[in-house]
Amino acid sequence: MIVGVLVELTNKNVDRIFDYNVSESLVPHIKIGIRVVVPFGKMELEGFVLEIKESSSADRELKNILSIVDENIVLNQELLNLGKWMQKETISSLISCYQVMLPKALKAKNGENISIKYDTYYVLDSSYDYDKLLEPQQRIIDCILKDGFILRKDAVDISLSSVKTLLKHHILKEEKKEHYRLSYSNQNLVKKELTPLQSQVVDRVIHDEEKVFLLHGVTGSGKTEVYMEIIDYYLKQGKSSIVLVPEISLTPQMVQRFRERFGSIIAALHSALSDGEKYDEWRRIYRGEASIVIGARSAIFAPLPNIGVIIIDEEHSDSYKQNDPSPRYHARDVAIERAHYHHCSVVLGSATPTLETMARAQKGNYQYLSLPERVNGKSLPHITIINMNDAMKKSRGHFSLELIDGIRNRLEKREQVILLLNRRGYSSFVTCKNCGYTFKCPNCDITLTYHKSSNTMRCHYCGFGEKVYQSCPSCGEKALNNLGVGTQRIEEELMNLFSDIRILRMDYDTTSRKGKHEEMIEKFQNHEYDVLLGTQMVAKGLDFSLVTLVGVINADTSLNIPDFRSSENTFSLLSQVAGRSGRAKKAGEVLIQTFNPEHYSICYAAKHDYQGFYEEEMKIRKLLKYPPYFYICNIRISGKNAEYIFDESYKIKRCLERNLHSTIILGPSSSGLFKINNIFHYHIILKYKSDSSLYPTLEKIVDHYKSNSKIKIDIDFNPSQML
Ligand code: ADP
Ligand code: ZN
Repeated sequence: MIVGVLVELTNKNVDRIFDYNVSESLVPHIKIGIRVVVPFGKMELEGFVLEIKESSSADRELKNILSIVDENIVLNQELLNLGKWMQKETISSLISCYQVMLPKALKAKNGENISIKYDTYYVLDSSYDYDKLLEPQQRIIDCILKDGFILRKDAVDISLSSVKTLLKHHILKEEKKEHYRLSYSNQNLVKKELTPLQSQVVDRVIHDEEKVFLLHGVTGSGKTEVYMEIIDYYLKQGKSSIVLVPEISLTPQMVQRFRERFGSIIAALHSALSDGEKYDEWRRIYRGEASIVIGARSAIFAPLPNIGVIIIDEEHSDSYKQNDPSPRYHARDVAIERAHYHHCSVVLGSATPTLETMARAQKGNYQYLSLPERVNGKSLPHITIINMNDAMKKSRGHFSLELIDGIRNRLEKREQVILLLNRRGYSSFVTCKNCGYTFKCPNCDITLTYHKSSNTMRCHYCGFGEKVYQSCPSCGEKALNNLGVGTQRIEEELMNLFSDIRILRMDYDTTSRKGKHEEMIEKFQNHEYDVLLGTQMVAKGLDFSLVTLVGVINADTSLNIPDFRSSENTFSLLSQVAGRSGRAKKAGEVLIQTFNPEHYSICYAAKHDYQGFYEEEMKIRKLLKYPPYFYICNIRISGKNAEYIFDESYKIKRCLERNLHSTIILGPSSSGLFKINNIFHYHIILKYKSDSSLYPTLEKIVDHYKSNSKIKIDIDFNPSQML
């Protein structure tokens, strides 16, 4: 027997299938999709068996497979084909496509320390005259007769010497059974009665087949309840479901709601799990013990056999696009591809769908469903725009009088407040008032952020940090100035404004430790704090009944990012964070502070007018030839030698110009982040509608540079960041 093996080396040079012989003893164990160990040059590598055949076309003598890693198939036929599809769609290596599908424990090297845990237990080995047993021996046997087995620790608790004797006389034998690190109960399963509007939506989804639905529902309209009802319907037909949520909304709050409804058949895949726990969850899914998978982006690859529906909540979230490393896939595209295979539907849910998704719904490519009101007719919170150009004249610091009053009022009423500022640290840059010197990262081409708690200046890209200077390193004057504002500074101002206020700051700096994020949400839920202050982490998915005021400190931070999606992202962020206010009985209020009070993103968000924003933004996208009118592809060219990268970038551009005739080619440019971690970056942007030469040309370029270590070419279709 001969097998074709794809080895686990991510070097693009060896991304192909190599043939190996299988020795007689291993033949019965060989299946397509299992992992094996093979000799590769002087190395021993793990790889996937992708082909089984009788003869090889290789012109060298074949080596033998060394061993089998695990008896079970890790990639079934569906996932094997999905990997090949992804390789073509994203122009990346096949091995990287398979690796992204599997938990760390099943990847070469990484997996060594992540083991399966076992329980040891005893069962009866052979018939024996039990009457002659001693009393402790008899008790062990009784347990086994009752339950069929006894756990080792329970037997040893009765009598270790009895266990030994029984084993020696072959009355008992030892067996092992897998033990999952997490366990769930099936208690108190609850479900809510749906409103007529929610029921209509559910009916539309389950009575149609193999469709993509956009569920456009305002915040608090009961989308999650709708998802659960749809899932329940398919569950009763013996089918499984995948629910994707952005990592930051994958909170215990969210998972809890699913557990309360479905109990132990839920598998939750999120970053707070250890690698061992993730591996256990993956095996439960693989064995059909869990039939509802809820998780962040990579959960789209859950090895479920019989999928009834795939749900993507908050479909506008950019966390569904993998930026780095390759494969740079979008979970929505993978979902639709898997749905074809399973003949099932996909539901995309959002209060602020991406323009691409909405445009497809308007064209009829997706089915449009809407929930325009909050459950029980609760109104959306009232939003006021505060012009900071005026407010700054009356107030010191970064709080307008209106926002100060609003917070004071909530503190008096013992209600809670969420404050959003989309920038962490204390100030966003440090400059010299005298000579204009700005502190920049020596590795990256960006300004350093001042962090007051550690008294350091840090780079948010590479993590570089240094102690703050007393005087300017350029002119020597003591004229250093903190400009821009971050969450740390707002926290300090707030403490000066209200003496006994309880502030919970939630940003990358305070949540980086495992479990911290969950812990904070629970504490805020228990009203141990008055104010939740944070970056976009506080905007999504959270449901706190005591929050009646949401304040946006500075709506302009996301507007000023040089990206064609910055208006859309601002509109979406403001709508999401506003949706955190007044979700329960008490009415909610939102105050948005901005220096651009006339900006259409902010004005439409304040009016809860998605349609208005959509139409306005579509005009701009059309004019500037951006999605959804044109597709975008970003070719990133990087390397250590700036001059070499520059020259090659122009060669690539010329090659593109020769081959592509209906594509707009922009660049090469070094705009944005030119130097990161001492690596220089250029990029070429392509805008196209359809161009049959595009993929072959890009593949040719990638192929041309694949063994050149001085330059790296990354292709990013539908990039979520343009920098
Ligand atoms: P969304 O996901 O659209 O933001 P949720 O599903 O979180 O909305 O619903 C908002 C709130 O309304 C939640 O507290 C939820 O438990 C409640 N809710 C949703 N549907 C119903 C219903 N049919 N009856 C009662 N409460 C509901
Ligand atoms: Zn840096």
